[in-house]
This record gives sequence, C-alpha cells and structure tokens, in this order.
Amino acid sequence: MTFRREEDGRKGADACILCRLCDAGSSYGVTLDERRSLRHTVWLAKNGRESAWLYAAMLNGVGEKACPMSIAIDDAIIEARRRMAAKGLETKENREFFEKVRRGVNPYA
Ligand code: SF4
Repeated sequence: MTFRREEDGRKGADACILCRLCDAGSSYGVTLDERRSLRHTVWLAKNGRESAWLYAAMLNGVGEKACPMSIAIDDAIIEARRRMAAKGLETKENREFFEKVRRGVNPYA
C-alpha cells in the first residue's frame, strides 16, 4: 500500500499517531537510535519540546510522503526550529553554519 498526502489537506504534528511509517526518510533504520527517528522529531514538535535532535531530521520529504495522517512533517519541524532560534536556542553548529554562509564561505569546511 502506498500512502500519498493531499497537498491541500496536510495536517499539523498534533495529528501524529506515532506509527513510524515516516522513518523511511530518516537515519533511524541504520542507527536504531530513537532520538534520530523522524517519529521522535515529530513528537518533539508536537509537544513543543526544545531539543538539538530537532536538527537531526533531513527534511527530504520522504517521511511526509509515507505519513498516513498527511502531516506536513517538514513544515512542523522547521516551525519548531524557528521557535528555538527565536529564543536563541539554536545549536552551536547551526549558528556557525549560518555565520559562514553570511560571510560567503563554505559552511562545511
Ligand atoms: S508517519 Fe506520520 S503519523 Fe506516523 S509517526 Fe510519522 S509523522 Fe507520526
């Protein structure tokens, strides 16, 4: 069975039923580390938690396509990251990355 979300009927993280079908788009299958699972990241967003693990999600859209609840997963995670950044709680790595981008240098070097 293939699940596809309706572009105009996407739901928020509140609709998550913790089924883990979205983890086809995360590193969970390799690491078996729940903290790296997309399911956990959606749970963090759903519960308004602030955690560096919100940055573990790749936001590649694969999880969204697999979600049977049509949750806008990537948008929910980006919004949770924005809430953290607004409070000055983004990760050190995230801050350094954007400092390099603003200076016009390779952010990965
Ligand atoms: S597939 Fe959707 S409902 Fe299932 S755990 Fe992931 S976000 Fe939640």
